[in-house]
Order: sequence, then C-alpha cells, then structure tokens
Amino acid sequence: TERTLSIIKPDATRRNLTGKINAKFEDAGLRIVAQKRIHLTKAQAGQFYAVHAERPFYDELCEFMASEPVVVQVLEGEGAIAKNREVMGATNPAEADAGTIRAEFAESVGENSVHGSDAPETAKEEIAFFFSGLELV
Ligand code: ATP
Ligand code: MG
Repeated sequence: TERTLSIIKPDATRRNLTGKINAKFEDAGLRIVAQKRIHLTKAQAGQFYAVHAERPFYDELCEFMASEPVVVQVLEGEGAIAKNREVMGATNPAEADAGTIRAEFAESVGENSVHGSDAPETAKEEIAFFFSGLELV
C-alpha cells in the first residue's frame, strides 16, 4: 500500500468541512493513518511550497496557507497518491468533476480546500515535513 500527504486548507477548516472532506477520503477507500491540526507560519508555508517560489501566486498562496489553521494528514491505500488526487478534483474548482472535494467545497483556484502530494518522491518528502517516525504507525 501507498501513503500520501494531504492538507485540508484554511478555507475548508474555517467552514468546518474537515469531517465532510474526511468522509470523501474514507468513502474512496483511503485510510487516515495520521492527522493533526497546526497553524503554519508564512515561512513554513513558503518552505512547503518552495517548488512554486517563482510562480506569480506564490506570495498569495503562502499568506493564505498561514492565515488560519490547517489539518495535515497521511492517507494510506492502494494507489493512494492518484486516488487522493482523483477525489480532490482539478486545481480550479470550475474544472473539477462533479462529486470531487474541490467541485463541492473549493472557493477559487487559490482557496481550493485541499492539497495532495503529486508523486511518490514528493509524498515521502511532504510526509517527513510534517510527521516524525513516532507519529506514524
Ligand atoms: P496542491 O499542490 O495544493 O495539491 P495542485 O497540485 O492541484 O494543488 P499546483 O499547481 O501544485 O496545484 O498549485 C499549488 C497550489 O497553488 C494550488 O492548490 C492553489 O492553491 C495554488 N494555485 C495554483 N494555481 C494558482 C493560480 N493561478 N492562482 C492562485 N493560486 C493558485
Ligand atoms: Mg501540487
């Protein structure tokens, strides 16, 4: 089985959507094997999204991710990385398939409710960014 890093973003935690989003993951066969609520500093958000440092939306993205608490979690299952991204839907909610998290809950392309790792290597790095070995069973 595979593991991936998921973040429930501030627009969703603010609207009390953690449970509804988690139900989507569990209904898709993804198991939540670690989870915690944290409030990122802007610097930490910048480090996490460093790959986007040159993009025009980087500063706005870091401000948003540090604006309120987020829920970071590790999801496990067969093909968890791809399955999670399927359940999330397209980055832009206007293009997301019906029934996906972003189609149902996202407010805009920036405030789009969830993050999910995009490949095995980034999943490994992103899980290690938020969770210690002791927190993962
Ligand atoms: P994530 O990495 O959060 O799972 P993603 O892989 O679908 O989302 P990326 O292209 O990696 O999308 O962009 C990372 C995040 O940056 C997006 O989820 C969104 O919050 C923000 N973002 C992307 N494109 C834009 C944009 N054009 N304007 C504002 N914010 C954007
Ligand atoms: Mg991405």
